[in-house]
Amino acid sequence: MKVFVVAEHMKGQLAETTFELLGKARALAGDGGEVIALLGGHGHKDLAAQLGAADKVIYADHPALEQFNPQAWCKAVTQMLQGRLPGLVLVSYSSQGMDLASGVGTALDVPVLAYATDVQADGGRITVTSQLYGGKIMAESAVNGDSAIVAMLAGVAPADAGRAEGSPAVEEVSLEGLDALQVTFKELVEPEGGDVDITKADVIVSVGRGIQSEENIEMAEALAQKLGGVVAASRPIVDAKWLPKSRQVGKSGLKVKPKLYIALGISGAPEHIEGMKDSETIIAINSDPKAPIFEYAHYGVAEDLFDVVPALTEKL
Ligand SMILES: Cc1cc2nc3c(=O)[nH]c(=O)nc-3n(C[C@H](O)[C@H](O)[C@H](O)COP(=O)(O)OP(=O)(O)OC[C@H]3O[C@@H](n4cnc5c(N)ncnc54)[C@H](O)[C@@H]3O)c2cc1C
Repeated sequence: MKVFVVAEHMKGQLAETTFELLGKARALAGDGGEVIALLGGHGHKDLAAQLGAADKVIYADHPALEQFNPQAWCKAVTQMLQGRLPGLVLVSYSSQGMDLASGVGTALDVPVLAYATDVQADGGRITVTSQLYGGKIMAESAVNGDSAIVAMLAGVAPADAGRAEGSPAVEEVSLEGLDALQVTFKELVEPEGGDVDITKADVIVSVGRGIQSEENIEMAEALAQKLGGVVAASRPIVDAKWLPKSRQVGKSGLKVKPKLYIALGISGAPEHIEGMKDSETIIAINSDPKAPIFEYAHYGVAEDLFDVVPALTEKL
């Protein structure tokens, strides 16, 4: 089978997910199959040398591809695929991949399956497992036809399998219609510098709306400090600007996998659960014993956090 992988990169660095997809593509292509990496950019041809797990790289260069402009990238990937299907196209279900998968799928009239945690291609029949509602429901879908675009969640395949030595053949293609776009790339807004990286923390004390005020976050900081951890938050806390966006856990924030995740006054909405459910140990403190967070917590305290947290910090 022919498996295409859209290589994602930013500031000259390939995304970890590109290697995850390449490893998966290698396994899906099997003996006699072909893995083709689709690489776009402007002056980024050298990145092809890192795509050794692919048999071939199709490279398209254009100034409009220097940054992620969804319209330019959709046109580019569409043209890179034109005339080369049938096949399976893997993209990352990242903010870039979400735009690409739907745009390219529409342009080429190829079905798109998103939120994928797995994809199989037994006997040429493509089946996909998708994770819905923050992991509450898994949907199995089968593709009618021999082509599909599958947008895979990050972290569902090992990246090491997609890192391989070797220099795949590079075929350069020229693009059309990228000079007059209705969408312009304006600015890359990066997370505030100097803040902690919650995705690398072993211990996270996360605060939700139950913390009630910005001043009370100090209490969570004190607990985190005792445990050698960092403070993170649910979305309402970030929306209120009590903590920066770089601390948000969840669907529209960051996915974390610490050894210990303590949820203070967090109800456990699916969008929050999606970002922290893989933590090794989850402890929830919430005054409502029916809060959904307790379905995911290994340990729970159904009490007022303003009683529990200072006592716990003192004990520690
Ligand atoms: C497209 C989309 C994306 C989203 N992305 C995210 C995301 O990335 N991350 C995210 O977190 N949310 C996200 N959300 C929002 C999400 O749906 C919830 O609204 C949010 O997670 C709720 O945050 P919370 O648990 O802090 O607040 P609430 O749901 O209001 O829960 C507060 C909890 O605190 C408890 N509590 C109150 N007082 C105390 C006390 N004194 N002691 C102990 N417990 C107390 C209450 O019992 C309650 O359970 C998203 C929503 C949408 C639609």
